[in-house]
Amino acid sequence: MKIIVATRAGFCSGVKRAIDMTNETLSQKGKIYMLGELIHNKRVVDKFRSLGVEIVKEIPKDTPGAFLITRSHGISPDVIKEVREYGLHLIDTTCPFVKKVQELARYILANGYELILVGDRGHAEIDAVLARLTDLSMVSVISTPSDLLGFVPNTKRVGIVSQTTQSLEFFSQVVGEISKYTQEMLVYNTICEETILRQREVDELSRRADVVVVIGGRNSANTNRLYRIAKKNCSRTIFVEKKEELSREDFKKDDTVLLVSGASTPYEFVEEVKELLLLWDKE
Ligand code: SF4
Repeated sequence: MKIIVATRAGFCSGVKRAIDMTNETLSQKGKIYMLGELIHNKRVVDKFRSLGVEIVKEIPKDTPGAFLITRSHGISPDVIKEVREYGLHLIDTTCPFVKKVQELARYILANGYELILVGDRGHAEIDAVLARLTDLSMVSVISTPSDLLGFVPNTKRVGIVSQTTQSLEFFSQVVGEISKYTQEMLVYNTICEETILRQREVDELSRRADVVVVIGGRNSANTNRLYRIAKKNCSRTIFVEKKEELSREDFKKDDTVLLVSGASTPYEFVEEVKELLLLWDKE
């Protein structure tokens, strides 16, 4: 068996930063809360839990002085306000690339353009962008190609930004379609470069693989996107959260196997899968 590991497997810089900030907070004295799970990865989150971090759905009111860690997808101004009100220390791990999307969305509206957000409706990153806008009457979210069917902007001046982990192909499709109805467009490709490079690498390498193993959280949007890209090129693409989900019979001795991971998957998970495959290969 020949095993190829994508060069961009493991954490992206934004997730690594969020994990580092959490570890740094763990070295401080005091109660630590996490507002929702930091990343879409159960094992990583469980590890933080075992170290004393409490995952909460709502902002704790009665523990002034405690730390509250928020996710890299961004937070709403209401969260910041409540954190202040309840006397908590905010550890805001919002990725700088996500902050850029928030800034550009506001910039587009402030300059009198209609805003189109290319992203997954209901995703935390899109919700955080929307929460920062005061008037949503000139804002549309385009999530799927079917959203484009019959969609016509309200005005002829449109600004477009993207969720950081969207597919470049879909973003380009939206820009192309919207341009048919506009006279003036501001287009900001805010897909983060790490996402683009990861998707591009998977697209290239999966064409030459017999089997692709995509490792990551099932609820992770970027991992699901990598799965879809690989599956398009390689019918034997398998999605797993951990090595225990793999089946020996899915691999043959002469297979070339590509291992890729989502942005919130630790590199050690990829290594565990690799070790297991090498073990099966020797049997
Ligand atoms: S995928 Fe990109 S935008 Fe998202 S957290 Fe990672 S580096 Fe930041």
